[in-house]
Amino acid sequence: MSSFKNWSDNRHDYAREWKKKTGGKVLGYFCTYLPEEILYAADVLPVRIFGQHGSDIGISSAHIYDMYCPFSRSCLAEGLKGKYDYLDGVAIAQSCMHIRQAFWSWQKHLPVEYSYYIYMPHGVQSKGRYEYYRGELVEFKESLEKWLGRTISDADLDKGIDIVRKNKESMRKIWEFRKNDRPSITGLEAMEIVFSSQVTDKREHNEALEQLITELPDRKVDRETGTRLMIIGSEDDDREFTKMVEEGLSLPATFVIEDHCVGSRYFWNDFTPGEDRLASIARWYLDRPPCPSKDWPKRLRFSHIKNLIQEYKVEAAILMQQKFCDPHELDIPALKTYLDELDIPYYLIEFDVLVPAGQLKTRVEAFLETRVELV
Ligand code: SF4
Repeated sequence: MSSFKNWSDNRHDYAREWKKKTGGKVLGYFCTYLPEEILYAADVLPVRIFGQHGSDIGISSAHIYDMYCPFSRSCLAEGLKGKYDYLDGVAIAQSCMHIRQAFWSWQKHLPVEYSYYIYMPHGVQSKGRYEYYRGELVEFKESLEKWLGRTISDADLDKGIDIVRKNKESMRKIWEFRKNDRPSITGLEAMEIVFSSQVTDKREHNEALEQLITELPDRKVDRETGTRLMIIGSEDDDREFTKMVEEGLSLPATFVIEDHCVGSRYFWNDFTPGEDRLASIARWYLDRPPCPSKDWPKRLRFSHIKNLIQEYKVEAAILMQQKFCDPHELDIPALKTYLDELDIPYYLIEFDVLVPAGQLKTRVEAFLETRVELV
Protein backbone atom coordinates (compact mmCIF):
# COMPACT_ATOMS: atom_id res chain seq x y z
CA MET A 1 0.00 0.00 0.00
CA SER A 2 2.92 2.32 0.71
CA SER A 3 3.88 2.37 -3.01
CA PHE A 4 0.59 4.02 -3.92
CA LYS A 5 1.11 6.71 -1.29
CA ASN A 6 4.71 7.32 -2.32
CA TRP A 7 3.78 7.62 -5.98
CA SER A 8 0.98 10.01 -5.08
CA ASP A 9 3.28 12.11 -2.88
CA ASN A 10 6.12 12.25 -5.40
CA ARG A 11 4.47 12.24 -8.79
CA HIS A 12 6.77 14.79 -10.41
CA ASP A 13 9.92 12.98 -9.25
CA TYR A 14 8.47 9.73 -10.54
CA ALA A 15 7.85 11.13 -14.04
CA ARG A 16 11.31 12.73 -14.19
CA GLU A 17 12.93 9.46 -13.14
CA TRP A 18 10.85 7.53 -15.69
CA LYS A 19 12.10 9.80 -18.46
CA LYS A 20 15.69 9.40 -17.37
CA LYS A 21 15.38 5.65 -17.13
CA THR A 22 13.50 4.98 -20.36
CA GLY A 23 14.42 7.95 -22.55
CA GLY A 24 10.70 8.09 -23.38
CA LYS A 25 8.32 11.01 -23.68
CA VAL A 26 5.78 12.09 -21.07
CA LEU A 27 2.43 13.60 -21.99
CA GLY A 28 0.25 15.49 -19.51
CA TYR A 29 -3.50 15.16 -19.90
CA PHE A 30 -6.35 17.13 -18.41
CA CYS A 31 -9.32 14.83 -18.17
CA THR A 32 -9.87 11.10 -17.78
CA TYR A 33 -11.71 10.90 -21.10
CA LEU A 34 -8.28 10.86 -22.77
CA PRO A 35 -7.57 7.40 -24.27
CA GLU A 36 -4.44 6.36 -22.41
CA GLU A 37 -4.40 3.07 -24.35
CA ILE A 38 -3.14 4.87 -27.48
CA LEU A 39 -0.36 6.58 -25.55
CA TYR A 40 0.86 3.33 -24.04
CA ALA A 41 0.72 1.87 -27.56
CA ALA A 42 3.04 4.70 -28.63
CA ASP A 43 5.40 4.15 -25.65
CA VAL A 44 4.50 7.58 -24.28
CA LEU A 45 3.77 7.88 -20.54
CA PRO A 46 0.43 9.60 -19.90
CA VAL A 47 0.27 11.50 -16.59
CA ARG A 48 -2.82 13.33 -15.47
CA ILE A 49 -2.32 16.99 -14.65
CA PHE A 50 -3.51 17.76 -11.13
CA GLY A 51 -3.49 20.92 -9.07
CA GLN A 52 -1.84 21.28 -5.70
CA HIS A 53 -3.87 21.70 -2.55
CA GLY A 54 -3.06 24.74 -0.48
CA SER A 55 -0.89 26.19 -3.24
CA ASP A 56 -1.51 29.74 -4.45
CA ILE A 57 -3.40 29.82 -7.75
CA GLY A 58 -3.30 33.60 -8.26
CA ILE A 59 -0.81 33.22 -11.12
CA SER A 60 -3.59 31.68 -13.24
CA SER A 61 -5.78 34.81 -12.98
CA ALA A 62 -4.20 36.44 -16.01
CA HIS A 63 -5.12 33.43 -18.13
CA ILE A 64 -8.35 31.96 -16.87
CA TYR A 65 -11.46 33.39 -15.20
CA ASP A 66 -11.43 33.42 -11.40
CA MET A 67 -14.95 32.05 -11.52
CA TYR A 68 -13.75 28.88 -13.20
CA CYS A 69 -13.40 25.91 -10.88
CA PRO A 70 -10.41 25.91 -8.53
CA PHE A 71 -9.30 22.54 -9.91
CA SER A 72 -8.83 23.89 -13.45
CA ARG A 73 -7.15 27.06 -12.12
CA SER A 74 -4.86 25.08 -9.88
CA CYS A 75 -3.84 22.73 -12.72
CA LEU A 76 -2.87 25.72 -14.86
CA ALA A 77 -1.16 27.47 -11.95
CA GLU A 78 1.06 24.45 -11.35
CA GLY A 79 2.05 24.51 -15.03
CA LEU A 80 2.78 28.24 -14.99
CA LYS A 81 4.93 27.76 -11.89
CA GLY A 82 7.06 25.24 -13.79
CA LYS A 83 6.03 22.18 -11.77
CA TYR A 84 5.40 20.23 -14.98
CA ASP A 85 8.51 21.31 -16.84
CA TYR A 86 9.31 17.70 -17.71
CA LEU A 87 6.26 17.30 -20.00
CA ASP A 88 6.94 16.77 -23.71
CA GLY A 89 3.32 17.20 -24.65
CA VAL A 90 -0.17 17.95 -23.39
CA ALA A 91 -3.58 16.75 -24.56
CA ILE A 92 -7.21 16.89 -23.60
CA ALA A 93 -10.36 15.07 -24.55
CA GLN A 94 -13.20 17.56 -24.25
CA SER A 95 -15.03 17.39 -20.95
CA CYS A 96 -15.92 20.89 -19.74
CA MET A 97 -15.21 24.50 -20.61
CA HIS A 98 -13.16 25.24 -17.48
CA ILE A 99 -10.54 22.58 -17.89
CA ARG A 100 -10.45 23.19 -21.65
CA GLN A 101 -9.49 26.78 -20.95
CA ALA A 102 -6.65 25.54 -18.73
CA PHE A 103 -5.48 23.39 -21.65
CA TRP A 104 -5.70 26.21 -24.19
CA SER A 105 -3.79 28.56 -21.98
CA TRP A 106 -1.15 25.91 -21.35
CA GLN A 107 -0.87 25.29 -25.08
CA LYS A 108 -0.33 28.99 -25.68
CA HIS A 109 1.96 29.96 -22.81
CA LEU A 110 4.00 26.91 -21.86
CA PRO A 111 6.71 25.30 -23.95
CA VAL A 112 5.71 21.80 -25.07
CA GLU A 113 6.68 20.18 -28.36
CA TYR A 114 3.28 18.53 -28.88
CA SER A 115 -0.30 19.37 -27.98
CA TYR A 116 -3.59 17.90 -29.09
CA TYR A 117 -7.28 18.52 -28.50
CA ILE A 118 -9.61 15.54 -28.97
CA TYR A 119 -13.20 16.35 -29.86
CA MET A 120 -14.72 13.94 -27.37
CA PRO A 121 -18.47 14.38 -27.90
CA HIS A 122 -20.75 15.72 -25.21
CA GLY A 123 -23.56 13.75 -26.77
CA VAL A 124 -22.41 10.35 -25.57
CA GLN A 125 -25.99 9.14 -25.99
CA SER A 126 -26.35 10.41 -29.54
CA LYS A 127 -26.77 8.23 -32.61
CA GLY A 128 -23.54 7.81 -34.51
CA ARG A 129 -21.37 8.50 -31.45
CA TYR A 130 -19.29 5.35 -31.82
CA GLU A 131 -18.34 5.97 -35.46
CA TYR A 132 -17.73 9.63 -34.76
CA TYR A 133 -15.43 9.07 -31.81
CA ARG A 134 -13.60 6.26 -33.55
CA GLY A 135 -12.81 8.79 -36.31
CA GLU A 136 -11.45 11.22 -33.73
CA LEU A 137 -9.21 8.51 -32.32
CA VAL A 138 -7.90 7.69 -35.80
CA GLU A 139 -6.85 11.33 -36.13
CA PHE A 140 -5.30 11.36 -32.66
CA LYS A 141 -3.28 8.25 -33.47
CA GLU A 142 -2.09 9.79 -36.76
CA SER A 143 -1.08 12.96 -34.98
CA LEU A 144 0.95 10.97 -32.44
CA GLU A 145 2.61 9.03 -35.26
CA LYS A 146 3.63 12.29 -36.90
CA TRP A 147 5.01 13.66 -33.62
CA LEU A 148 6.94 10.53 -32.78
CA GLY A 149 8.02 9.65 -36.32
CA ARG A 150 6.83 6.06 -36.05
CA THR A 151 3.83 3.90 -36.83
CA ILE A 152 1.49 2.65 -34.13
CA SER A 153 0.57 -0.88 -35.22
CA ASP A 154 -2.32 -3.12 -34.17
CA ALA A 155 0.16 -5.05 -32.04
CA ASP A 156 1.11 -1.77 -30.31
CA LEU A 157 -2.56 -1.01 -29.70
CA ASP A 158 -3.08 -4.50 -28.25
CA LYS A 159 -0.21 -3.81 -25.88
CA GLY A 160 -1.67 -0.43 -24.83
CA ILE A 161 -5.14 -1.89 -24.37
CA ASP A 162 -3.77 -4.74 -22.32
CA ILE A 163 -1.83 -2.46 -19.94
CA VAL A 164 -4.79 -0.16 -19.28
CA ARG A 165 -7.36 -2.94 -19.15
CA LYS A 166 -5.40 -4.91 -16.55
CA ASN A 167 -5.05 -1.81 -14.44
CA LYS A 168 -8.77 -1.09 -14.43
CA GLU A 169 -9.76 -4.72 -13.89
CA SER A 170 -7.44 -5.00 -10.90
CA MET A 171 -8.86 -1.87 -9.31
CA ARG A 172 -12.37 -3.28 -9.73
CA LYS A 173 -11.26 -6.46 -7.94
CA ILE A 174 -9.80 -4.40 -5.11
CA TRP A 175 -12.98 -2.33 -4.79
CA GLU A 176 -14.86 -5.56 -3.98
CA PHE A 177 -13.06 -5.56 -0.63
CA ARG A 178 -14.63 -2.23 0.25
CA LYS A 179 -18.01 -3.94 0.38
CA ASN A 180 -16.98 -5.86 3.51
CA ASP A 181 -18.60 -4.93 6.82
CA ARG A 182 -15.11 -3.92 7.83
CA PRO A 183 -13.66 -2.68 4.50
CA SER A 184 -10.16 -3.98 3.84
CA ILE A 185 -9.00 -0.63 2.51
CA THR A 186 -9.89 2.88 3.61
CA GLY A 187 -11.22 5.64 1.40
CA LEU A 188 -7.86 7.38 1.64
CA GLU A 189 -6.01 4.29 0.45
CA ALA A 190 -8.52 3.87 -2.38
CA MET A 191 -7.95 7.46 -3.45
CA GLU A 192 -4.17 6.96 -3.43
CA ILE A 193 -4.54 3.83 -5.56
CA VAL A 194 -6.49 5.66 -8.28
CA PHE A 195 -4.48 8.87 -8.07
CA SER A 196 -1.19 6.99 -8.43
CA SER A 197 -2.60 4.99 -11.34
CA GLN A 198 -3.07 8.29 -13.19
CA VAL A 199 0.50 9.51 -12.63
CA THR A 200 2.71 6.40 -12.92
CA ASP A 201 3.59 3.81 -15.52
CA LYS A 202 0.64 1.42 -15.30
CA ARG A 203 2.92 -1.58 -15.86
CA GLU A 204 4.59 -0.86 -12.53
CA HIS A 205 1.27 0.06 -10.96
CA ASN A 206 -0.23 -3.22 -12.18
CA GLU A 207 2.43 -5.20 -10.33
CA ALA A 208 1.63 -3.37 -7.09
CA LEU A 209 -2.11 -3.95 -7.64
CA GLU A 210 -1.58 -7.67 -8.22
CA GLN A 211 0.47 -7.89 -5.04
CA LEU A 212 -2.26 -6.07 -3.11
CA ILE A 213 -4.95 -8.42 -4.46
CA THR A 214 -3.09 -11.38 -2.97
CA GLU A 215 -2.79 -9.63 0.41
CA LEU A 216 -6.30 -8.24 0.78
CA PRO A 217 -8.14 -11.42 1.85
CA ASP A 218 -6.04 -11.47 5.05
CA ARG A 219 -5.68 -7.74 5.56
CA LYS A 220 -7.19 -6.36 8.73
CA VAL A 221 -7.75 -2.64 9.00
CA ASP A 222 -7.47 -1.77 12.65
CA ARG A 223 -10.19 0.86 12.88
CA GLU A 224 -13.88 1.16 13.44
CA THR A 225 -15.85 1.47 10.18
CA GLY A 226 -18.53 3.79 11.58
CA THR A 227 -20.82 5.49 9.08
CA ARG A 228 -20.40 4.09 5.57
CA LEU A 229 -19.95 7.17 3.40
CA MET A 230 -19.96 7.76 -0.33
CA ILE A 231 -18.44 10.77 -2.11
CA ILE A 232 -20.36 11.94 -5.15
CA GLY A 233 -19.03 14.82 -7.13
CA SER A 234 -16.56 16.76 -9.17
CA GLU A 235 -12.90 15.94 -9.51
CA ASP A 236 -11.66 15.13 -6.00
CA ASP A 237 -8.10 14.24 -5.07
CA ASP A 238 -8.24 15.87 -1.66
CA ARG A 239 -6.44 13.33 0.48
CA GLU A 240 -6.25 15.73 3.41
CA PHE A 241 -10.04 15.99 3.61
CA THR A 242 -10.51 12.24 3.16
CA LYS A 243 -7.99 11.53 5.93
CA MET A 244 -9.57 14.10 8.21
CA VAL A 245 -13.02 12.48 7.85
CA GLU A 246 -11.70 8.96 8.33
CA GLU A 247 -9.21 9.66 11.09
CA GLY A 248 -9.85 13.02 12.65
CA LEU A 249 -13.51 13.14 13.68
CA SER A 250 -15.06 12.30 17.02
CA LEU A 251 -17.43 9.88 15.24
CA PRO A 252 -16.00 7.07 13.09
CA ALA A 253 -16.68 7.09 9.37
CA THR A 254 -15.26 5.37 6.29
CA PHE A 255 -15.57 6.22 2.62
CA VAL A 256 -16.63 2.89 1.14
CA ILE A 257 -17.25 4.05 -2.45
CA GLU A 258 -17.29 7.16 -4.61
CA ASP A 259 -18.58 8.35 -7.94
CA HIS A 260 -15.96 10.67 -9.36
CA CYS A 261 -12.97 10.57 -11.69
CA VAL A 262 -10.24 9.93 -9.08
CA GLY A 263 -12.32 6.96 -8.00
CA SER A 264 -14.54 4.30 -9.43
CA ARG A 265 -15.71 6.31 -12.44
CA TYR A 266 -12.18 6.02 -13.83
CA PHE A 267 -12.25 2.24 -14.16
CA TRP A 268 -15.79 0.99 -13.73
CA ASN A 269 -16.96 -0.53 -17.02
CA ASP A 270 -15.64 -3.65 -18.77
CA PHE A 271 -13.58 -3.34 -21.92
CA THR A 272 -15.02 -5.27 -24.86
CA PRO A 273 -12.22 -6.21 -27.26
CA GLY A 274 -12.82 -6.24 -31.02
CA GLU A 275 -10.96 -6.56 -34.31
CA ASP A 276 -11.17 -2.77 -34.75
CA ARG A 277 -9.09 -1.66 -31.75
CA LEU A 278 -9.88 2.04 -31.98
CA ALA A 279 -13.61 1.30 -32.18
CA SER A 280 -13.33 -0.76 -28.99
CA ILE A 281 -11.45 2.03 -27.23
CA ALA A 282 -14.03 4.59 -28.40
CA ARG A 283 -16.84 2.41 -27.10
CA TRP A 284 -15.23 2.06 -23.67
CA TYR A 285 -14.94 5.81 -23.16
CA LEU A 286 -18.41 6.57 -24.47
CA ASP A 287 -20.03 3.89 -22.32
CA ARG A 288 -18.26 4.58 -19.04
CA PRO A 289 -20.31 5.98 -16.13
CA PRO A 290 -20.70 9.53 -17.37
CA CYS A 291 -19.50 12.78 -15.88
CA PRO A 292 -22.53 15.13 -15.51
CA SER A 293 -21.14 17.24 -18.38
CA LYS A 294 -22.05 14.35 -20.68
CA ASP A 295 -24.99 12.82 -18.88
CA TRP A 296 -27.86 14.01 -21.05
CA PRO A 297 -30.54 14.10 -22.42
CA LYS A 298 -31.26 11.12 -20.16
CA ARG A 299 -29.67 11.15 -16.71
CA LEU A 300 -28.07 7.74 -16.68
CA ARG A 301 -25.62 8.10 -13.86
CA PHE A 302 -28.21 8.22 -11.09
CA SER A 303 -29.15 4.57 -11.48
CA HIS A 304 -25.41 3.78 -11.39
CA ILE A 305 -25.12 5.75 -8.14
CA LYS A 306 -28.10 3.86 -6.73
CA ASN A 307 -26.42 0.52 -7.54
CA LEU A 308 -23.24 1.65 -5.82
CA ILE A 309 -25.22 2.75 -2.75
CA GLN A 310 -26.87 -0.65 -2.53
CA GLU A 311 -23.81 -2.76 -3.29
CA TYR A 312 -21.53 -0.89 -0.87
CA LYS A 313 -24.22 -0.47 1.82
CA VAL A 314 -23.82 3.30 1.84
CA GLU A 315 -25.47 5.09 4.78
CA ALA A 316 -24.77 8.72 3.92
CA ALA A 317 -23.25 10.78 1.13
CA ILE A 318 -20.94 13.75 0.87
CA LEU A 319 -21.69 15.75 -2.26
CA MET A 320 -18.37 17.28 -3.15
CA GLN A 321 -18.73 20.08 -5.61
CA GLN A 322 -15.75 22.05 -6.82
CA LYS A 323 -16.69 25.69 -6.41
CA PHE A 324 -18.12 27.07 -9.69
CA CYS A 325 -18.20 23.62 -11.32
CA ASP A 326 -21.18 24.14 -13.63
CA PRO A 327 -21.78 20.53 -14.75
CA HIS A 328 -22.01 19.24 -11.19
CA GLU A 329 -23.83 22.26 -9.83
CA LEU A 330 -26.58 21.74 -12.39
CA ASP A 331 -26.88 18.15 -11.31
CA ILE A 332 -27.13 18.78 -7.58
CA PRO A 333 -30.85 19.66 -7.22
CA ALA A 334 -31.89 16.52 -9.08
CA LEU A 335 -29.32 14.47 -7.19
CA LYS A 336 -30.63 15.71 -3.84
CA THR A 337 -34.17 14.73 -4.80
CA TYR A 338 -32.93 11.33 -5.92
CA LEU A 339 -31.07 10.72 -2.65
CA ASP A 340 -34.12 11.88 -0.67
CA GLU A 341 -36.16 9.23 -2.46
CA LEU A 342 -33.52 6.64 -1.57
CA ASP A 343 -33.58 7.90 2.03
CA ILE A 344 -29.84 8.60 1.94
CA PRO A 345 -28.82 11.64 4.01
CA TYR A 346 -26.28 13.89 2.33
CA TYR A 347 -24.15 16.90 3.00
CA LEU A 348 -23.08 19.30 0.27
CA ILE A 349 -19.58 20.76 0.35
CA GLU A 350 -18.57 23.47 -2.05
CA PHE A 351 -14.92 22.75 -2.35
CA ASP A 352 -11.94 24.97 -2.99
CA VAL A 353 -8.29 23.89 -3.15
CA LEU A 354 -7.43 26.93 -1.06
CA VAL A 355 -9.64 25.99 1.88
CA PRO A 356 -7.78 23.79 4.37
CA ALA A 357 -9.62 20.57 5.25
CA GLY A 358 -9.63 21.51 8.94
CA GLN A 359 -12.23 24.21 8.28
CA LEU A 360 -14.69 21.53 7.17
CA LYS A 361 -14.18 19.36 10.25
CA THR A 362 -16.94 20.85 12.40
CA ARG A 363 -19.42 20.83 9.55
CA VAL A 364 -18.90 17.18 8.64
CA GLU A 365 -18.89 16.20 12.31
CA ALA A 366 -22.23 17.97 12.81
CA PHE A 367 -23.66 16.14 9.79
CA LEU A 368 -22.58 12.76 11.16
CA GLU A 369 -23.99 13.63 14.58
CA THR A 370 -27.35 14.49 13.03
CA ARG A 371 -27.30 11.17 11.28
CA VAL A 372 -26.62 9.33 14.50
CA GLU A 373 -29.51 11.16 16.12
CA LEU A 374 -31.79 10.14 13.23
CA VAL A 375 -30.78 6.48 13.62
S1 SF4 B 1 -14.50 20.09 -11.54
FE1 SF4 B 1 -16.24 20.62 -12.86
S2 SF4 B 1 -15.71 22.59 -13.80
FE2 SF4 B 1 -13.82 21.73 -12.91
S3 SF4 B 1 -12.87 20.62 -14.57
FE3 SF4 B 1 -14.15 19.11 -13.52
S4 SF4 B 1 -16.17 19.15 -14.54
FE4 SF4 B 1 -14.99 20.98 -15.17
